[in-house]
Amino acid sequence: MSEVQHHQPAKIAKKPSSVRPVDVVVVGGGVSGKACALGLAQLGLQTAQVAPGIENFIAAPQGPQWGQRIYAFSPSTQKLLARLQVWDAIDQSRMQPVRDMRIFGDRGDQLDTLHLSAFEAGTPLLAWIGESNLIEHTLDQASRFQSKLERMDDSLEDLEIDADGIMLHLHSGACIHTKLLVAADGANSPIRSLLGISHSEESYQQSAVVVNWICTRAHLETAYQWFLPGGDIVAMLPLPNQQVSMVWSTSPENAAYLIKLNQDSWVTELSSLANGAITQTLGELTLNSLPAAFPLRKMRASRFIGPEGNPKVALIGDAAHVMHPLAGQGLNLGLRDVATLLHVLGQRESFRPINDKVLLRRYERQRQGDTSALLWVTDKLKKLFSGTSSTEKQLRNWGLGIVNRSHFIKQRLIERALGDIDFE
Ligand SMILES: Cc1cc2nc3c(=O)[nH]c(=O)nc-3n(C[C@H](O)[C@H](O)[C@H](O)COP(=O)(O)OP(=O)(O)OC[C@H]3O[C@@H](n4cnc5c(N)ncnc54)[C@H](O)[C@@H]3O)c2cc1C
Repeated sequence: MSEVQHHQPAKIAKKPSSVRPVDVVVVGGGVSGKACALGLAQLGLQTAQVAPGIENFIAAPQGPQWGQRIYAFSPSTQKLLARLQVWDAIDQSRMQPVRDMRIFGDRGDQLDTLHLSAFEAGTPLLAWIGESNLIEHTLDQASRFQSKLERMDDSLEDLEIDADGIMLHLHSGACIHTKLLVAADGANSPIRSLLGISHSEESYQQSAVVVNWICTRAHLETAYQWFLPGGDIVAMLPLPNQQVSMVWSTSPENAAYLIKLNQDSWVTELSSLANGAITQTLGELTLNSLPAAFPLRKMRASRFIGPEGNPKVALIGDAAHVMHPLAGQGLNLGLRDVATLLHVLGQRESFRPINDKVLLRRYERQRQGDTSALLWVTDKLKKLFSGTSSTEKQLRNWGLGIVNRSHFIKQRLIERALGDIDFE
């Protein structure tokens, strides 16, 4: 394991005289940034969102071929999107509810499985599976009608903290002065580096191969996951129209080999995987998207707000934390950051400005527990299932059986997966 710490000093400087002021700037044009910018503008704050290409609105996904980026969305994400008044505008024919999850250990017998059921847990569903494009498209449409939100096709080059806020220097040469800065600029966050916020990071030495399939057997609204000997993990997530989306976490070398396979070679590859269990469960599989691979790592920023004494910055989404996709929770966690930030700012006392350090500390405090717990659980699961010692093998197979027989533990696991956010 290679834990690295990066640290640089933050810059403090004076404000130039002729710049347009705004209340908040969100840097980053991913789902976290788009949702956050929309929510801040809905709070009545004059908001600017800065990201390359942000003025190009994402087209609604259509037709039988589905997008490459497919996500599991938790009920906490649904609650946020409903609060932002975009959930009802999402084309529900392209969203698949998940009512069951079946997780298989590498021993391959009946006792070596875990079944989580929405019905048993007394909840309507466990998650939805859908395209990133679909959510982004709907957020883009809502942003068009938000007069307090301005989108700027640009990128951040530098920043200076002053007594009132932060001066941002953009690639185009433009400068904006903002009271509060939201860093939604992804895992390699330039804002994190510019502020000298250290982070710990570890590569999993794995890449995730993602590809969509049409299957001949019904997926029964079930998300399947197989932990394989040697540390590979294959998830098959249900989609509408008898499709599944595969996320196969494997060595970078195998990922490079897999993304070049044609249909026939894929069929051969999948038929022997997990002793044939995948094709026995889902039937014949036909490619329905171009495969892509993403390197996997875990990362956590040491702070989720700007420098001690003068924070004025909130880190959200992958800028603050990155995790293994085995639990399908990275973006959901980022959107819970958004929900918390909106809640803290929306409920602030009338005497507090939006960049008050008490508010920023409240935000950071409320996000630390959820983030640490999810990062810890996904990391330990990943390592437990890649371990090759006999103790690790016994522990994981024994563990799956125990959890499967315990209604109490399963209920807690489901509660954690559903996530909870508070808007009141
Ligand atoms: C294989 C895989 C499967 C996954 N599956 C799931 C899942 O099922 N469920 C789930 O919840 N999560 C999942 N995740 C995690 C999810 O993909 C990420 O957590 C999410 O995309 C992060 O979104 P973000 O908006 O925080 O960052 P990003 O999407 O990385 O956006 C960062 C933005 O910042 C912009 N930017 C960067 N630098 C600058 C700059 N200098 N100036 C201006 N803008 C800048 C970029 O252009 C970009 O727009 C998965 C991840 C992987 C790899």
